[in-house]
Amino acid sequence: MSTKELLNKNFQAIQTQIQEATSSAERPADSVKLVAVTKTVPTDTMRDLFALGMKTFGENRTDVLVKKQAELADLTDIEWHFIGNLQSRQVKSIINSIDYLHSLDRLSLAKEIQKRAEDTVKCFVQVNVSGETSKSGFEPSELESTLEQLASYDKIQVIGLMTMAPIDATEAELHQYFKQLKELQTIIAAQKLTHAPCTDVSMGMSQDYPIAIAEGATFIRVGSAFFQE
Ligand SMILES: *Cc1c(COP(=O)(O)O)cnc(C)c1O
Repeated sequence: MSTKELLNKNFQAIQTQIQEATSSAERPADSVKLVAVTKTVPTDTMRDLFALGMKTFGENRTDVLVKKQAELADLTDIEWHFIGNLQSRQVKSIINSIDYLHSLDRLSLAKEIQKRAEDTVKCFVQVNVSGETSKSGFEPSELESTLEQLASYDKIQVIGLMTMAPIDATEAELHQYFKQLKELQTIIAAQKLTHAPCTDVSMGMSQDYPIAIAEGATFIRVGSAFFQE
């Protein structure tokens, strides 16, 4: 199978899975936005994906993002998502050229964004629901005070919460972590904060996105399922 055929087949399979997962959760199919995580592939492959209709890309390295944006400058309507750990000194290199930041994981980062962003940036606050010490993100117990503090940063719009499940989580644990993130999002959304509408939940990767959809994900970040046999 050629790379293009493989991409096409995988893309179809992912769309079918999304349809099945949304329908068994009694959710509309378009309530889940698919972000193709292209961090492992070159821009040629991204062009192939674009030709198939996939225009939402996620990257996790600032230098790579900048390079790819330049290489794909002729393609219009690409939506760029930054999904990785963002160092404060790298903020200025990307913050005005991305559409979403999935990894707002500390207040010092918010401060730097406030300083560098020209317009409001749509951000997901990253939450460490599993409590793994190696994971970045806020603890659930810190969320309330974090949101209060973010209110003074008018360049940051908290559109939702994001989490990453541990790679070795069991299916039951995945359900539990994703359910917990959804619950936190629902509580915040109910407060109707102007700076934090928090209507969205970014969770689920290649291994677990059907479970994330069952638990209410509105953005899923899928990489390897696009590119692997
Ligand atoms: C790489 C990555 C993904 C995609 O992971 P796959 O397992 O390849 O689907 C999603 N989210 C983040 C933050 C990532 O770094």
